[in-house]
Formats: sequence, structure tokens, C-alpha cells
Amino acid sequence: MDLAEMTANMSLQNVNGKLQKKREDYIDWREYFMAMAFLAAKRSKDPSSQVGACVVNKENKIVGIGYNGMPLGCDDEVFPWGKNTPSPLDSKYLYVCHAEMNAILNKNAADVKDCSIYVGLFPCNECAKIIIQSGIKEVIYLSDKHAHKPETVASKRMFDAVGVKYWQFTPKNEKIEINFSDIDWNNMSPRK
Ligand SMILES: [Zn+2]
Repeated sequence: MDLAEMTANMSLQNVNGKLQKKREDYIDWREYFMAMAFLAAKRSKDPSSQVGACVVNKENKIVGIGYNGMPLGCDDEVFPWGKNTPSPLDSKYLYVCHAEMNAILNKNAADVKDCSIYVGLFPCNECAKIIIQSGIKEVIYLSDKHAHKPETVASKRMFDAVGVKYWQFTPKNEKIEINFSDIDWNNMSPRK
């Protein structure tokens, strides 16, 4: 028996010696990465917009995650979360760091060249610049609800000019639930 056969045999045997196939209801990579972006968005303190982003390299390894929030050290309780205030200084826009910026700056790799970024919402023009400058080559987004805004039009103009691909993701599952009691630890095969 060669090594490949042995490995195949090992993966087909469970503890009782019965043949066992892999699970079929696992989520695929794209759903997994988009779900990671959405999970990160749950950390956002912004009452009107929660956006998450997940940067992934060519080996399907996550190299950065972020969500929209105030800069490090700028107190969430002190800086404003409102919008359309008489003075722009009292609205969030001048202060908040977008998810894409945070995901890229949070990278745990030397760089994010040739990576993909998964985002809940199509990137604004400021994030588009950061995406381009960082070497990211692909943007996968869920919503394009600001498509008509100049910020989004500018983003697409820049992406098109430099060849950053972008496409809308349609999830297979409308919902991916994380339930801490989902996994039945007692019925799991013992670790060897
Ligand atoms: Zn942005």
C-alpha cells in the first residue's frame, strides 16, 4: 500500500471502523470570507452603518480583518456618531476609519499584494485609493447601494483604470448562523 492509499484509507475510517464521508453542508471559501466580514461588522459602534472587510491572499488565508470605527485612542464615547449636523465637526464623517482601511492596516502579513478584499458595501473613493495603493487586485462586495454617488462612481473609475476587478457576491445561504450550542461535543469522536 502506498502513502496515497494509506491516507485515503485513514480518512475513510472513523473510530468504529465504518466508512465515513466528509460533511456536505460546510460553507465554501467565498461565503466564509464574506461571513467573516459580516462578523467583524458586528463590532462596529456606528448606529447607522456597520461595514466589515476581510482581506484574503491567493492561498485562501485571511491576512486582515476590519470594521468601521474611530481611530485608535479616539474615544467611541467622545467622538460623534451622528450625520448631517450643522457643523461637519460634529458628524462622524471626518473621523471614522472605514472597514477597508482598517482591514488593510491590520494585516498580519508583510503586504497585501495580489490579495482580494471582501466587503459588505462597495468601497468609497478614499478606500479605493488605499486598496489600489496596497496592491489588492480584487474587490468582492455584497451591496452597491451607493452606486449613484460620486464617491462610488470615482471608485469604479479608478478600479477600471488600474485593472482592479470587482464583482457582486450573491450568497448561497441568506443566513449563516453561529450557535454556540450547535456542535454536539458529547457525540464527537474522541481525539486520539
Ligand atoms: Zn471607505
